[in-house]
Amino acid sequence: MKVFLLTMLSINLAVAGISFAPKNFEVKGSQAVFVDFITMESVVTYDLKEKETTAESTIHFKVIKKGKPLFDLKEKVIRATLTGSPVKIVEVDSPDRETSYMMVDQTLEPGDYTLTLTNLIEANQRYDWYGKSVRAAFWMSDLTDRKYLEQYLPTNLEFDQFALTMHVKMVGNAKMDLHEVYTNGQLTVNGKNDFTIEFPEYFTASSFYYHLSVQNSFEKTSFNFKSINGKQVPVVVYSSSTSNVRSATTKTKKVLAELEGKLGAWPHPSLVVYVAGSGGMEHSGATRTSLYALGHELIHSYYARGVMPMDGNSGWMDEAIASWRDDGYQVAQRPSFGSSTMSGHSPYRRTTDRKAYSQGANFMAYLNYQLSEQGGLIAFLKHFHDLNSHKSVTTKMFKQELESYSGMSFTREFDRYIYGQKKEQSTDKAGVKENPYHVELSEKELENLL
Ligand SMILES: [Zn+2]
Repeated sequence: MKVFLLTMLSINLAVAGISFAPKNFEVKGSQAVFVDFITMESVVTYDLKEKETTAESTIHFKVIKKGKPLFDLKEKVIRATLTGSPVKIVEVDSPDRETSYMMVDQTLEPGDYTLTLTNLIEANQRYDWYGKSVRAAFWMSDLTDRKYLEQYLPTNLEFDQFALTMHVKMVGNAKMDLHEVYTNGQLTVNGKNDFTIEFPEYFTASSFYYHLSVQNSFEKTSFNFKSINGKQVPVVVYSSSTSNVRSATTKTKKVLAELEGKLGAWPHPSLVVYVAGSGGMEHSGATRTSLYALGHELIHSYYARGVMPMDGNSGWMDEAIASWRDDGYQVAQRPSFGSSTMSGHSPYRRTTDRKAYSQGANFMAYLNYQLSEQGGLIAFLKHFHDLNSHKSVTTKMFKQELESYSGMSFTREFDRYIYGQKKEQSTDKAGVKENPYHVELSEKELENLL
């Protein structure tokens, strides 16, 4: 009975994401439909002679409603086949032009399909002039549209969780340098410059961490962190600076102890910390970060990449929680701003509202005050994390659980401060500033981090 129930549960979880997809829409008289990725396997080949990278992906997906399947990929498609026959891939805009997607230009009945797709990868990589080495990474951002996995490989949107197996190969020069991979997937070294990475099935488009570099180009240290659940968590800290590795190692241990004490055991099988540049970006059990932003990025492995946002209207919670932590877990008797629309944007929006860092954090301080008799906001965040670890959530789900946990209604507060249904204008224009934790880097700056 127990086994049966568990099986039913995992099936429900697998299809849960698609029910939170934005509304399907019409494109030139045809129906464009969001689909459910089941698994994806990609072979990424670096050709050192031609200085060209290609990815060949096989995507198993499910069509739920009849129509032309939507997914995303920003790089150039070389060829695509659907269940063995060539198929056209076209770019389409969301109905309100909030964002764009790729669409398989063929109407499909509900059912299971296989799409194979070959694309070039040109973003965030650098071949050396002699053809002996290549450096590449999946650098991401949640503040600019279409900056997740779609920059490199085909992917579904954040609402969908799917397992990805990625093979990394290098060809074109028998005397090429030895390379190494830093990743939050399970890495297998098959042979010289031949790797396989298995990313788990709870990952979404924003979870993946992948950095290919030349062996020994970074200072690094590896150690095991003993989690409060008794498990040993392997940690790798790397940087081009030895003192950064040393400082980040000390800080990582301190912050992990802080976060485990408040939110429970580390929610990922491992941790990779790349200390580089200013600001940072969070992944599931990995971060590219400055020393300054390290604590901020690590809490994101609980909120952002442990409990994951379903879409752009859900991302404010992660930044609000992380910034509230950075500000010292404050208490506020009332929000200090008039209203906001942090979670009131187009349903097609894929980026986080920057007001989350200031006004969102302030709203969390207000919730902390409201929950003071139930152990404060941290007790609720631990509870919500326990319920939703490795799952995607919406603002509505957060509010509902908050209400059932506290026995209070927060409808008025969410309508005014989060959804922005009150007509009041935001009174805190200064609150929308560049966040020191997620500084936007130029393409050149990102290349320098390779
Ligand atoms: Zn953040």
